Amino acid sequence: MGKPEVSAVEAALAKQQGASFTLHGAGVSGGIAIGYAHLISTARLEVAHYEIPREEIEAETGRLDAAIEQVRGELVGLHAAVPADAPAEMGAFLDLHLMILNDALLSAAPRELIRTRRWNAEWALVHQMEILVHRFEEIEDAYLRERKIDVQQVVERVLKAMLGTGHQPAPEHEEDIIVVAHDLSPADMILFKQHEFAAFVTDLGGVTSHTAIVARSLNLPAIVGLHHARHMIREGELLIVDGSAGVLIVNPDRQVLAEYQLRRSQFDLERQKLKRLKTMPAATVEGIAVELQANIELPDDLEQALENGATGVGLFRSEFLFLNRDDLPDEDEQFEAYRQVVLAMNGHPVTIRTLDLGADKTLNGEQFAGPNPALGLRAIRFCLAEPQLFLTQLRAILRASHYGKVRILVPMIAHAHEIAQVLRYLANAEDTLAQAGVAFDPSVPVGGMIEVPAAALAVASFMKRLDFLSIGTNDLIQYTLAIDRTDDNVAHLYDPLHPAVLQLVAHTIRTATKAGVPVAVCGEVAGDVALTRLLLGLGLRQFSMHPAQLLAVKQQVLRSSIPEVELLAQRILRSEDPERTRALLAKLNA
Ligand code: PEP
Ligand code: MG
Repeated sequence: MGKPEVSAVEAALAKQQGASFTLHGAGVSGGIAIGYAHLISTARLEVAHYEIPREEIEAETGRLDAAIEQVRGELVGLHAAVPADAPAEMGAFLDLHLMILNDALLSAAPRELIRTRRWNAEWALVHQMEILVHRFEEIEDAYLRERKIDVQQVVERVLKAMLGTGHQPAPEHEEDIIVVAHDLSPADMILFKQHEFAAFVTDLGGVTSHTAIVARSLNLPAIVGLHHARHMIREGELLIVDGSAGVLIVNPDRQVLAEYQLRRSQFDLERQKLKRLKTMPAATVEGIAVELQANIELPDDLEQALENGATGVGLFRSEFLFLNRDDLPDEDEQFEAYRQVVLAMNGHPVTIRTLDLGADKTLNGEQFAGPNPALGLRAIRFCLAEPQLFLTQLRAILRASHYGKVRILVPMIAHAHEIAQVLRYLANAEDTLAQAGVAFDPSVPVGGMIEVPAAALAVASFMKRLDFLSIGTNDLIQYTLAIDRTDDNVAHLYDPLHPAVLQLVAHTIRTATKAGVPVAVCGEVAGDVALTRLLLGLGLRQFSMHPAQLLAVKQQVLRSSIPEVELLAQRILRSEDPERTRALLAKLNA
Protein backbone atom coordinates (compact mmCIF):
# COMPACT_ATOMS: atom_id res chain seq x y z
CA MET A 1 0.00 0.00 0.00
CA GLY A 2 1.43 3.37 -0.98
CA LYS A 3 1.79 6.30 1.34
CA PRO A 4 1.27 9.99 0.82
CA GLU A 5 4.34 11.64 -0.57
CA VAL A 6 5.98 13.90 1.97
CA SER A 7 5.57 16.73 -0.52
CA ALA A 8 1.80 16.13 -0.72
CA VAL A 9 1.58 16.12 3.04
CA GLU A 10 3.64 19.29 3.17
CA ALA A 11 1.23 20.85 0.73
CA ALA A 12 -1.69 19.84 2.91
CA LEU A 13 0.03 21.33 5.93
CA ALA A 14 0.53 24.55 4.09
CA LYS A 15 -3.10 24.89 3.05
CA GLN A 16 -4.80 23.53 6.16
CA GLN A 17 -6.46 26.01 8.39
CA GLY A 18 -8.30 23.94 10.98
CA ALA A 19 -7.10 23.75 14.55
CA SER A 20 -5.26 20.65 15.65
CA PHE A 21 -7.01 18.28 18.06
CA THR A 22 -6.81 14.67 19.17
CA LEU A 23 -9.53 12.05 19.62
CA HIS A 24 -9.24 8.76 21.46
CA GLY A 25 -11.01 5.53 20.59
CA ALA A 26 -10.29 1.82 20.52
CA GLY A 27 -7.42 0.84 18.25
CA VAL A 28 -8.55 -2.06 16.14
CA SER A 29 -5.72 -2.70 13.87
CA GLY A 30 -2.07 -1.78 14.21
CA GLY A 31 0.05 0.61 12.25
CA ILE A 32 0.07 4.28 11.45
CA ALA A 33 -1.60 6.00 8.53
CA ILE A 34 -1.28 9.61 7.43
CA GLY A 35 -3.82 10.90 4.93
CA TYR A 36 -6.84 13.04 4.17
CA ALA A 37 -10.29 12.67 5.67
CA HIS A 38 -13.02 11.38 3.43
CA LEU A 39 -16.40 11.49 5.15
CA ILE A 40 -18.80 8.77 4.21
CA SER A 41 -22.34 8.23 5.30
CA THR A 42 -23.60 5.29 7.26
CA ALA A 43 -25.92 3.97 4.61
CA ARG A 44 -23.84 2.40 1.91
CA LEU A 45 -20.20 2.56 1.22
CA GLU A 46 -20.81 2.81 -2.51
CA VAL A 47 -22.41 6.21 -2.23
CA ALA A 48 -19.99 8.78 -3.51
CA HIS A 49 -19.67 12.22 -1.92
CA TYR A 50 -18.53 15.02 -4.16
CA GLU A 51 -19.29 18.63 -4.92
CA ILE A 52 -20.80 19.46 -8.27
CA PRO A 53 -19.95 22.57 -10.28
CA ARG A 54 -22.53 25.37 -9.97
CA GLU A 55 -23.58 25.02 -13.60
CA GLU A 56 -24.56 21.37 -13.03
CA ILE A 57 -27.07 22.02 -10.23
CA GLU A 58 -30.04 21.77 -12.57
CA ALA A 59 -28.83 18.54 -14.14
CA GLU A 60 -28.09 17.02 -10.73
CA THR A 61 -31.58 17.81 -9.41
CA GLY A 62 -32.94 16.34 -12.63
CA ARG A 63 -30.96 13.17 -12.00
CA LEU A 64 -32.56 12.79 -8.59
CA ASP A 65 -36.05 13.50 -9.96
CA ALA A 66 -35.59 11.03 -12.79
CA ALA A 67 -34.52 8.31 -10.37
CA ILE A 68 -37.51 8.96 -8.11
CA GLU A 69 -39.79 8.86 -11.13
CA GLN A 70 -38.25 5.57 -12.28
CA VAL A 71 -38.75 3.99 -8.85
CA ARG A 72 -42.33 5.27 -8.75
CA GLY A 73 -42.93 3.47 -12.05
CA GLU A 74 -41.35 0.29 -10.68
CA LEU A 75 -43.46 0.31 -7.54
CA VAL A 76 -46.69 1.01 -9.43
CA GLY A 77 -45.80 -1.82 -11.81
CA LEU A 78 -45.13 -4.20 -8.93
CA HIS A 79 -48.39 -3.20 -7.32
CA ALA A 80 -50.32 -3.97 -10.46
CA ALA A 81 -48.62 -7.36 -10.71
CA VAL A 82 -49.63 -8.48 -7.21
CA PRO A 83 -51.83 -11.57 -7.72
CA ALA A 84 -55.40 -11.25 -6.51
CA ASP A 85 -54.94 -14.08 -3.99
CA ALA A 86 -51.67 -12.69 -2.54
CA PRO A 87 -51.65 -11.78 1.16
CA ALA A 88 -52.99 -8.28 1.78
CA GLU A 89 -49.66 -7.24 3.35
CA MET A 90 -47.98 -7.38 -0.04
CA GLY A 91 -50.09 -4.57 -1.50
CA ALA A 92 -49.95 -2.62 1.75
CA PHE A 93 -46.16 -2.84 1.78
CA LEU A 94 -45.93 -1.42 -1.75
CA ASP A 95 -48.44 1.31 -0.83
CA LEU A 96 -46.25 2.28 2.10
CA HIS A 97 -43.16 2.48 -0.09
CA LEU A 98 -45.00 4.63 -2.62
CA MET A 99 -46.16 6.88 0.18
CA ILE A 100 -42.60 7.32 1.44
CA LEU A 101 -41.38 7.98 -2.08
CA ASN A 102 -44.06 10.59 -2.73
CA ASP A 103 -43.48 12.39 0.53
CA ALA A 104 -41.86 15.77 0.07
CA LEU A 105 -39.81 15.06 3.19
CA LEU A 106 -37.77 12.60 1.21
CA SER A 107 -37.13 14.65 -1.92
CA ALA A 108 -37.43 18.35 -1.04
CA ALA A 109 -34.50 18.50 1.38
CA PRO A 110 -32.06 16.71 -0.95
CA ARG A 111 -32.99 19.11 -3.76
CA GLU A 112 -32.18 21.98 -1.42
CA LEU A 113 -28.85 20.41 -0.47
CA ILE A 114 -27.92 19.98 -4.11
CA ARG A 115 -28.77 23.62 -4.73
CA THR A 116 -27.22 25.25 -1.68
CA ARG A 117 -24.32 22.99 -0.79
CA ARG A 118 -23.72 21.60 -4.27
CA TRP A 119 -23.68 18.03 -3.01
CA ASN A 120 -24.14 15.24 -5.51
CA ALA A 121 -27.63 13.73 -5.51
CA GLU A 122 -26.66 10.46 -3.74
CA TRP A 123 -24.96 12.30 -0.92
CA ALA A 124 -27.93 14.64 -0.47
CA LEU A 125 -30.43 11.80 -0.51
CA VAL A 126 -28.56 9.63 1.97
CA HIS A 127 -28.06 12.60 4.26
CA GLN A 128 -31.80 13.23 4.35
CA MET A 129 -32.45 9.51 4.83
CA GLU A 130 -30.24 9.53 7.91
CA ILE A 131 -32.20 12.42 9.37
CA LEU A 132 -35.47 10.55 8.79
CA VAL A 133 -34.08 7.27 10.14
CA HIS A 134 -32.90 9.07 13.23
CA ARG A 135 -36.41 10.49 13.75
CA PHE A 136 -37.92 7.03 13.40
CA GLU A 137 -35.43 5.64 15.91
CA GLU A 138 -36.77 8.02 18.50
CA ILE A 139 -40.36 6.79 18.15
CA GLU A 140 -41.48 4.72 21.11
CA ASP A 141 -43.88 2.46 19.28
CA ALA A 142 -41.81 -0.55 18.16
CA TYR A 143 -43.81 -1.11 14.97
CA LEU A 144 -43.46 2.48 13.79
CA ARG A 145 -39.80 2.53 14.83
CA GLU A 146 -39.10 -0.39 12.53
CA ARG A 147 -40.53 1.57 9.58
CA LYS A 148 -37.11 3.16 9.27
CA ILE A 149 -36.22 0.02 7.35
CA ASP A 150 -38.84 0.93 4.75
CA VAL A 151 -37.32 4.38 4.38
CA GLN A 152 -33.91 2.79 3.89
CA GLN A 153 -35.27 0.34 1.34
CA VAL A 154 -36.96 3.07 -0.68
CA VAL A 155 -33.79 5.15 -0.66
CA GLU A 156 -31.76 2.16 -1.75
CA ARG A 157 -34.06 1.69 -4.71
CA VAL A 158 -33.56 5.32 -5.70
CA LEU A 159 -29.81 5.00 -5.25
CA LYS A 160 -29.81 1.97 -7.50
CA ALA A 161 -31.76 3.89 -10.11
CA MET A 162 -29.09 6.60 -10.03
CA LEU A 163 -26.30 4.08 -10.37
CA GLY A 164 -23.97 4.92 -13.20
CA THR A 165 -25.67 8.22 -14.01
CA GLY A 166 -23.41 10.41 -11.85
CA HIS A 167 -20.03 11.95 -12.52
CA GLN A 168 -18.06 10.98 -9.48
CA PRO A 169 -14.55 12.30 -9.86
CA ALA A 170 -12.14 9.39 -9.50
CA PRO A 171 -10.33 9.71 -6.18
CA GLU A 172 -6.83 10.72 -7.10
CA HIS A 173 -4.85 8.71 -4.62
CA GLU A 174 -7.04 6.27 -2.75
CA GLU A 175 -4.08 5.23 -0.65
CA ASP A 176 -4.01 8.75 0.82
CA ILE A 177 -7.65 8.58 1.92
CA ILE A 178 -8.75 7.95 5.48
CA VAL A 179 -12.40 6.99 5.63
CA VAL A 180 -14.34 8.69 8.42
CA ALA A 181 -17.77 7.21 9.15
CA HIS A 182 -20.32 7.24 11.92
CA ASP A 183 -20.71 3.49 11.63
CA LEU A 184 -19.88 0.77 9.14
CA SER A 185 -21.46 -2.65 8.87
CA PRO A 186 -19.38 -5.79 8.27
CA ALA A 187 -20.92 -5.82 4.79
CA ASP A 188 -19.64 -2.27 4.17
CA MET A 189 -16.21 -3.31 5.36
CA ILE A 190 -16.09 -6.15 2.88
CA LEU A 191 -16.45 -3.56 0.13
CA PHE A 192 -13.26 -1.94 1.42
CA LYS A 193 -11.44 -4.94 0.04
CA GLN A 194 -11.95 -3.51 -3.43
CA HIS A 195 -10.27 -0.26 -2.42
CA GLU A 196 -6.85 0.79 -1.25
CA PHE A 197 -7.72 3.27 1.46
CA ALA A 198 -5.06 4.15 4.03
CA ALA A 199 -7.17 3.70 7.15
CA PHE A 200 -10.64 4.05 8.56
CA VAL A 201 -12.14 5.48 11.72
CA THR A 202 -15.69 5.25 13.07
CA ASP A 203 -17.74 6.77 15.87
CA LEU A 204 -19.37 3.47 16.85
CA GLY A 205 -18.23 -0.13 17.23
CA GLY A 206 -16.31 -2.39 19.59
CA VAL A 207 -12.92 -4.02 19.03
CA THR A 208 -14.37 -7.46 18.40
CA SER A 209 -17.28 -6.34 16.23
CA HIS A 210 -17.18 -7.99 12.83
CA THR A 211 -16.54 -4.56 11.32
CA ALA A 212 -13.33 -4.37 13.35
CA ILE A 213 -12.43 -7.96 12.49
CA VAL A 214 -12.69 -7.29 8.77
CA ALA A 215 -10.59 -4.14 9.23
CA ARG A 216 -7.87 -6.27 10.79
CA SER A 217 -8.00 -8.67 7.90
CA LEU A 218 -7.47 -5.70 5.57
CA ASN A 219 -4.31 -4.95 7.49
CA LEU A 220 -5.25 -1.29 7.75
CA PRO A 221 -4.78 0.95 10.75
CA ALA A 222 -8.23 1.55 12.17
CA ILE A 223 -9.95 3.05 15.19
CA VAL A 224 -13.54 2.51 16.35
CA GLY A 225 -15.59 4.08 19.14
CA LEU A 226 -14.46 7.68 18.53
CA HIS A 227 -17.99 8.95 19.34
CA HIS A 228 -18.08 12.29 17.49
CA ALA A 229 -15.33 12.11 14.89
CA ARG A 230 -17.76 12.20 11.95
CA HIS A 231 -19.13 15.55 13.11
CA MET A 232 -15.87 17.12 14.17
CA ILE A 233 -13.79 16.33 11.11
CA ARG A 234 -14.17 18.11 7.79
CA GLU A 235 -13.69 16.62 4.36
CA GLY A 236 -10.06 16.77 3.25
CA GLU A 237 -8.51 17.51 6.63
CA LEU A 238 -5.13 15.98 7.32
CA LEU A 239 -5.30 13.06 9.77
CA ILE A 240 -2.92 10.75 11.57
CA VAL A 241 -4.37 7.38 12.60
CA ASP A 242 -2.41 5.46 15.20
CA GLY A 243 -4.24 2.13 15.10
CA SER A 244 -2.18 0.59 17.90
CA ALA A 245 -2.83 3.34 20.45
CA GLY A 246 -6.34 4.23 19.24
CA VAL A 247 -5.30 7.86 18.74
CA LEU A 248 -6.56 10.08 15.94
CA ILE A 249 -4.82 13.42 15.39
CA VAL A 250 -6.64 15.96 13.27
CA ASN A 251 -4.64 18.73 11.57
CA PRO A 252 -1.31 17.78 13.19
CA ASP A 253 1.40 20.41 13.39
CA ARG A 254 4.71 19.96 11.63
CA GLN A 255 6.50 18.45 14.62
CA VAL A 256 3.82 15.87 15.37
CA LEU A 257 3.65 14.94 11.72
CA ALA A 258 7.40 14.36 11.56
CA GLU A 259 7.25 12.22 14.70
CA TYR A 260 4.53 10.00 13.24
CA GLN A 261 6.27 9.71 9.89
CA LEU A 262 9.22 8.29 11.78
CA ARG A 263 7.05 5.93 13.81
CA ARG A 264 5.35 4.74 10.65
CA SER A 265 8.70 3.89 9.05
CA GLN A 266 9.75 1.99 12.18
CA PHE A 267 6.49 0.03 12.22
CA ASP A 268 6.85 -0.86 8.55
CA LEU A 269 10.43 -1.95 9.15
CA GLU A 270 9.39 -4.26 12.00
CA ARG A 271 6.72 -5.84 9.79
CA GLN A 272 9.25 -6.27 7.04
CA LYS A 273 11.67 -8.05 9.39
CA LEU A 274 8.97 -10.51 10.49
CA LYS A 275 8.71 -11.80 6.91
CA ARG A 276 11.89 -13.78 7.53
CA LEU A 277 9.89 -16.09 9.80
CA LYS A 278 7.46 -17.11 7.06
CA THR A 279 8.83 -20.57 6.33
CA MET A 280 10.18 -21.31 9.81
CA PRO A 281 8.13 -24.00 11.62
CA ALA A 282 6.30 -22.61 14.63
CA ALA A 283 7.74 -24.33 17.70
CA THR A 284 8.67 -23.34 21.22
CA VAL A 285 12.23 -23.15 22.53
CA GLU A 286 12.12 -26.86 23.46
CA GLY A 287 10.71 -27.79 20.04
CA ILE A 288 7.02 -28.25 20.88
CA ALA A 289 5.07 -27.67 17.67
CA VAL A 290 2.36 -25.05 17.61
CA GLU A 291 -0.22 -24.81 14.82
CA LEU A 292 -0.75 -21.29 13.47
CA GLN A 293 -3.71 -21.04 11.11
CA ALA A 294 -5.61 -18.25 9.42
CA ASN A 295 -9.09 -16.82 9.80
CA ILE A 296 -10.57 -15.79 6.46
CA GLU A 297 -13.81 -14.16 5.36
CA LEU A 298 -13.62 -14.69 1.60
CA PRO A 299 -11.51 -16.87 -0.72
CA ASP A 300 -9.54 -13.76 -1.73
CA ASP A 301 -8.11 -13.55 1.80
CA LEU A 302 -6.11 -16.70 1.14
CA GLU A 303 -3.34 -14.86 -0.60
CA GLN A 304 -2.53 -13.00 2.60
CA ALA A 305 -2.85 -16.20 4.64
CA LEU A 306 -0.33 -18.01 2.43
CA GLU A 307 2.00 -15.02 2.32
CA ASN A 308 2.16 -15.14 6.09
CA GLY A 309 2.86 -18.86 6.26
CA ALA A 310 -0.52 -20.12 7.55
CA THR A 311 -0.54 -23.91 7.89
CA GLY A 312 -4.27 -24.16 7.45
CA VAL A 313 -7.50 -22.21 7.64
CA GLY A 314 -8.76 -22.44 11.20
CA LEU A 315 -11.88 -20.40 10.53
CA PHE A 316 -13.57 -19.63 7.22
CA ARG A 317 -16.42 -17.25 8.11
CA SER A 318 -18.61 -18.57 5.29
CA GLU A 319 -21.46 -16.13 5.94
CA PHE A 320 -19.46 -13.37 4.25
CA LEU A 321 -20.25 -15.11 0.94
CA PHE A 322 -23.87 -14.18 1.64
CA LEU A 323 -23.44 -10.44 2.30
CA ASN A 324 -23.77 -7.50 -0.13
CA ARG A 325 -26.14 -9.28 -2.50
CA ASP A 326 -29.84 -9.61 -3.14
CA ASP A 327 -29.87 -13.38 -3.68
CA LEU A 328 -28.38 -16.36 -1.85
CA PRO A 329 -25.37 -18.20 -3.26
CA ASP A 330 -26.62 -21.58 -4.47
CA GLU A 331 -24.95 -24.93 -3.83
CA ASP A 332 -22.70 -24.72 -6.90
CA GLU A 333 -21.51 -21.22 -6.14
CA GLN A 334 -20.72 -22.13 -2.54
CA PHE A 335 -19.02 -25.33 -3.64
CA GLU A 336 -16.77 -23.37 -6.03
CA ALA A 337 -15.80 -20.92 -3.28
CA TYR A 338 -15.00 -23.69 -0.80
CA ARG A 339 -13.15 -25.76 -3.37
CA GLN A 340 -11.04 -22.75 -4.36
CA VAL A 341 -9.90 -22.39 -0.75
CA VAL A 342 -9.34 -26.12 -0.28
CA LEU A 343 -7.24 -26.40 -3.45
CA ALA A 344 -5.18 -23.32 -2.60
CA MET A 345 -4.39 -24.73 0.85
CA ASN A 346 -2.86 -27.72 -0.88
CA GLY A 347 -3.52 -30.46 1.67
CA HIS A 348 -3.55 -28.20 4.73
CA PRO A 349 -6.80 -28.31 6.70
CA VAL A 350 -9.60 -25.89 5.86
CA THR A 351 -12.13 -25.36 8.63
CA ILE A 352 -15.38 -24.11 7.14
CA ARG A 353 -17.68 -22.62 9.70
CA THR A 354 -21.33 -23.09 8.84
CA LEU A 355 -23.33 -19.91 8.41
CA ASP A 356 -23.10 -17.53 11.36
CA LEU A 357 -25.76 -15.08 10.25
CA GLY A 358 -27.66 -12.86 12.64
CA ALA A 359 -26.51 -10.23 15.14
CA ASP A 360 -24.37 -7.77 13.14
CA LYS A 361 -24.24 -9.88 9.97
CA THR A 362 -27.55 -9.70 8.18
CA LEU A 363 -28.75 -10.75 4.77
CA ASN A 364 -29.03 -7.55 2.73
CA GLY A 365 -29.63 -5.50 5.87
CA GLU A 366 -32.65 -7.58 6.87
CA GLN A 367 -33.17 -8.12 10.56
CA PHE A 368 -34.58 -11.52 11.38
CA ALA A 369 -32.92 -12.15 14.68
CA GLY A 370 -35.53 -10.64 16.98
CA PRO A 371 -35.40 -7.79 19.46
CA ASN A 372 -31.99 -8.75 20.83
CA PRO A 373 -30.06 -10.08 17.85
CA ALA A 374 -27.01 -11.32 19.78
CA LEU A 375 -29.32 -13.52 21.85
CA GLY A 376 -31.72 -14.32 19.05
CA LEU A 377 -31.93 -16.59 16.05
CA ARG A 378 -28.25 -16.38 15.27
CA ALA A 379 -25.65 -18.84 13.90
CA ILE A 380 -26.61 -22.51 14.30
CA ARG A 381 -30.03 -21.53 15.64
CA PHE A 382 -30.79 -19.75 12.39
CA CYS A 383 -29.50 -22.68 10.30
CA LEU A 384 -31.61 -25.19 12.20
CA ALA A 385 -34.63 -22.97 11.59
CA GLU A 386 -33.82 -22.86 7.86
CA PRO A 387 -33.09 -26.51 7.00
CA GLN A 388 -33.01 -26.04 3.23
CA LEU A 389 -30.42 -23.29 3.50
CA PHE A 390 -28.38 -25.41 5.92
CA LEU A 391 -28.58 -28.58 3.83
CA THR A 392 -27.49 -26.65 0.74
CA GLN A 393 -24.42 -25.41 2.58
CA LEU A 394 -23.60 -28.84 4.01
CA ARG A 395 -23.77 -30.42 0.55
CA ALA A 396 -21.53 -27.69 -0.88
CA ILE A 397 -18.97 -28.23 1.90
CA LEU A 398 -19.07 -32.01 1.50
CA ARG A 399 -18.51 -31.72 -2.23
CA ALA A 400 -15.45 -29.52 -1.58
CA SER A 401 -14.13 -32.11 0.89
CA HIS A 402 -13.28 -34.35 -2.06
CA TYR A 403 -10.50 -31.90 -3.01
CA GLY A 404 -8.53 -31.71 0.23
CA LYS A 405 -8.77 -31.70 3.99
CA VAL A 406 -12.06 -30.13 5.04
CA ARG A 407 -13.45 -29.73 8.55
CA ILE A 408 -16.91 -28.45 9.46
CA LEU A 409 -17.20 -26.06 12.39
CA VAL A 410 -20.56 -25.27 14.01
CA PRO A 411 -20.93 -21.82 15.59
CA MET A 412 -22.55 -20.93 18.89
CA ILE A 413 -23.63 -24.32 20.12
CA ALA A 414 -25.32 -24.15 23.52
CA HIS A 415 -27.35 -27.36 23.63
CA ALA A 416 -26.49 -31.03 23.09
CA HIS A 417 -29.58 -31.41 20.88
CA GLU A 418 -28.14 -28.82 18.47
CA ILE A 419 -25.12 -31.07 17.91
CA ALA A 420 -27.41 -34.06 17.40
CA GLN A 421 -29.49 -32.15 14.87
CA VAL A 422 -26.41 -30.97 12.96
CA LEU A 423 -25.16 -34.55 12.70
CA ARG A 424 -28.56 -35.68 11.41
CA TYR A 425 -28.58 -32.96 8.75
CA LEU A 426 -25.04 -33.90 7.80
CA ALA A 427 -26.05 -37.55 7.38
CA ASN A 428 -28.96 -36.40 5.24
CA ALA A 429 -26.66 -34.27 3.04
CA GLU A 430 -24.26 -37.23 2.70
CA ASP A 431 -27.12 -39.53 1.66
CA THR A 432 -28.29 -37.13 -1.02
CA LEU A 433 -24.81 -36.84 -2.48
CA ALA A 434 -24.12 -40.57 -2.25
CA GLN A 435 -27.38 -41.35 -4.06
CA ALA A 436 -26.45 -38.90 -6.80
CA GLY A 437 -23.01 -40.51 -7.06
CA VAL A 438 -21.19 -37.31 -6.05
CA ALA A 439 -17.76 -37.75 -4.44
CA PHE A 440 -17.07 -36.45 -0.94
CA ASP A 441 -14.98 -37.32 2.12
CA PRO A 442 -17.21 -39.63 4.22
CA SER A 443 -15.39 -38.77 7.43
CA VAL A 444 -15.26 -35.00 7.46
CA PRO A 445 -14.50 -33.98 11.07
CA VAL A 446 -17.22 -31.94 12.75
CA GLY A 447 -16.24 -29.46 15.42
CA GLY A 448 -18.07 -27.09 17.71
CA MET A 449 -17.33 -23.52 18.62
CA ILE A 450 -17.18 -22.81 22.31
CA GLU A 451 -18.66 -19.33 22.35
CA VAL A 452 -21.23 -19.32 25.12
CA PRO A 453 -20.43 -20.07 28.76
CA ALA A 454 -22.93 -22.96 28.69
CA ALA A 455 -20.84 -24.73 26.06
CA ALA A 456 -17.59 -24.14 27.96
CA LEU A 457 -19.08 -25.53 31.15
CA ALA A 458 -20.67 -28.50 29.40
CA VAL A 459 -17.68 -29.12 27.18
CA ALA A 460 -16.95 -32.58 28.60
CA SER A 461 -20.29 -33.94 27.43
CA PHE A 462 -20.51 -31.87 24.23
CA MET A 463 -17.16 -33.04 22.93
CA LYS A 464 -18.17 -36.70 23.10
CA ARG A 465 -20.02 -36.12 19.83
CA LEU A 466 -17.52 -33.69 18.30
CA ASP A 467 -14.17 -34.29 16.57
CA PHE A 468 -12.60 -30.99 17.58
CA LEU A 469 -13.28 -27.71 19.35
CA SER A 470 -12.55 -24.10 18.61
CA ILE A 471 -12.93 -21.41 21.25
CA GLY A 472 -14.53 -18.26 19.87
CA THR A 473 -13.34 -15.82 22.49
CA ASN A 474 -15.07 -12.84 20.87
CA ASP A 475 -18.46 -14.26 21.61
CA LEU A 476 -17.37 -16.11 24.73
CA ILE A 477 -16.33 -12.77 26.24
CA GLN A 478 -19.49 -11.07 24.96
CA TYR A 479 -21.76 -13.68 26.52
CA THR A 480 -19.77 -14.20 29.72
CA LEU A 481 -19.49 -10.52 30.56
CA ALA A 482 -22.87 -9.56 29.05
CA ILE A 483 -21.41 -6.89 26.77
CA ASP A 484 -22.65 -6.41 23.23
CA ARG A 485 -19.48 -6.60 21.17
CA THR A 486 -20.78 -4.02 18.69
CA ASP A 487 -21.65 -1.43 21.33
CA ASP A 488 -18.91 1.09 22.03
CA ASN A 489 -20.70 2.21 25.19
CA VAL A 490 -19.67 -1.02 26.88
CA ALA A 491 -16.44 -1.58 24.96
CA HIS A 492 -14.38 -0.60 28.01
CA LEU A 493 -15.77 -3.67 29.80
CA TYR A 494 -14.32 -6.04 27.21
CA ASP A 495 -11.65 -7.95 29.11
CA PRO A 496 -10.04 -11.20 27.98
CA LEU A 497 -8.24 -11.33 31.34
CA HIS A 498 -11.42 -11.33 33.39
CA PRO A 499 -11.13 -14.31 35.77
CA ALA A 500 -14.42 -15.79 34.55
CA VAL A 501 -13.22 -15.70 30.94
CA LEU A 502 -9.84 -17.19 31.82
CA GLN A 503 -11.46 -19.97 33.84
CA LEU A 504 -13.77 -20.90 30.95
CA VAL A 505 -10.95 -20.87 28.40
CA ALA A 506 -8.60 -22.82 30.68
CA HIS A 507 -11.30 -25.35 31.53
CA THR A 508 -12.09 -25.94 27.86
CA ILE A 509 -8.44 -26.39 26.88
CA ARG A 510 -7.72 -28.65 29.85
CA THR A 511 -10.79 -30.87 29.36
CA ALA A 512 -10.28 -31.27 25.62
CA THR A 513 -6.55 -31.91 25.88
CA LYS A 514 -7.03 -34.53 28.56
CA ALA A 515 -9.48 -36.39 26.32
CA GLY A 516 -7.27 -36.03 23.24
CA VAL A 517 -9.76 -33.78 21.45
CA PRO A 518 -7.98 -31.11 19.36
CA VAL A 519 -8.78 -27.61 20.58
CA ALA A 520 -7.99 -24.22 19.03
CA VAL A 521 -8.70 -20.59 19.82
CA CYS A 522 -10.00 -18.62 16.84
CA GLY A 523 -11.24 -15.42 18.49
CA GLU A 524 -9.27 -12.18 18.33
CA VAL A 525 -7.21 -13.08 21.40
CA ALA A 526 -5.44 -15.72 19.29
CA GLY A 527 -3.84 -12.91 17.28
CA ASP A 528 -2.97 -10.75 20.25
CA VAL A 529 0.76 -11.11 20.87
CA ALA A 530 0.32 -9.96 24.46
CA LEU A 531 -1.70 -13.12 25.11
CA THR A 532 0.28 -15.70 23.12
CA ARG A 533 2.37 -16.88 26.07
CA LEU A 534 -0.59 -16.98 28.39
CA LEU A 535 -2.50 -19.22 25.97
CA LEU A 536 0.55 -21.45 25.50
CA GLY A 537 0.83 -21.67 29.27
CA LEU A 538 -2.80 -22.73 29.50
CA GLY A 539 -1.98 -25.61 27.17
CA LEU A 540 -3.12 -24.22 23.82
CA ARG A 541 -1.25 -25.58 20.79
CA GLN A 542 -3.54 -24.41 17.96
CA PHE A 543 -4.17 -20.76 17.16
CA SER A 544 -6.24 -19.31 14.34
CA MET A 545 -6.12 -15.59 13.63
CA HIS A 546 -6.30 -12.93 10.95
CA PRO A 547 -3.31 -13.51 8.67
CA ALA A 548 -1.63 -10.17 9.34
CA GLN A 549 -0.86 -11.30 12.91
CA LEU A 550 0.51 -14.75 12.07
CA LEU A 551 4.19 -13.86 11.95
CA ALA A 552 4.16 -11.68 15.06
CA VAL A 553 2.51 -14.53 17.00
CA LYS A 554 5.04 -16.97 15.54
CA GLN A 555 7.83 -14.77 16.85
CA GLN A 556 6.32 -15.02 20.34
CA VAL A 557 6.02 -18.80 20.07
CA LEU A 558 9.65 -19.16 18.97
CA ARG A 559 10.79 -17.21 22.05
CA SER A 560 8.63 -19.12 24.56
CA SER A 561 9.54 -21.98 26.82
CA ILE A 562 6.57 -24.12 27.91
CA PRO A 563 7.68 -24.93 31.51
CA GLU A 564 8.29 -21.23 32.12
CA VAL A 565 5.01 -19.97 30.65
CA GLU A 566 3.01 -22.73 32.32
CA LEU A 567 4.15 -21.63 35.74
CA LEU A 568 3.14 -18.01 35.28
CA ALA A 569 -0.08 -18.90 33.45
CA GLN A 570 -1.21 -20.93 36.45
CA ARG A 571 -0.45 -18.00 38.75
CA ILE A 572 -2.50 -15.71 36.49
CA LEU A 573 -5.35 -18.21 36.60
CA ARG A 574 -5.32 -18.13 40.39
CA SER A 575 -5.03 -14.34 40.64
CA GLU A 576 -8.05 -12.60 42.18
CA ASP A 577 -6.82 -9.08 41.70
CA PRO A 578 -6.89 -7.47 38.21
CA GLU A 579 -3.79 -5.38 38.94
CA ARG A 580 -1.85 -8.44 40.00
CA THR A 581 -3.09 -10.28 36.89
CA ARG A 582 -1.72 -7.52 34.68
CA ALA A 583 1.57 -7.42 36.58
CA LEU A 584 1.93 -11.20 36.18
CA LEU A 585 1.13 -10.93 32.48
CA ALA A 586 3.81 -8.26 32.08
CA LYS A 587 6.26 -10.61 33.81
CA LEU A 588 5.19 -13.46 31.54
CA ASN A 589 5.84 -11.32 28.48
CA ALA A 590 9.11 -9.83 29.71
C1 PEP B 1 -15.60 -15.62 18.01
O1 PEP B 1 -16.73 -15.39 18.41
O2 PEP B 1 -14.58 -15.53 18.74
C2 PEP B 1 -15.37 -16.03 16.61
C3 PEP B 1 -14.19 -16.42 16.20
O3 PEP B 1 -16.42 -15.95 15.76
P1 PEP B 1 -16.96 -14.54 15.21
O4 PEP B 1 -15.95 -13.48 15.60
O5 PEP B 1 -17.09 -14.65 13.74
O6 PEP B 1 -18.26 -14.38 15.91
MG1 MG C 1 -18.40 -15.99 17.20
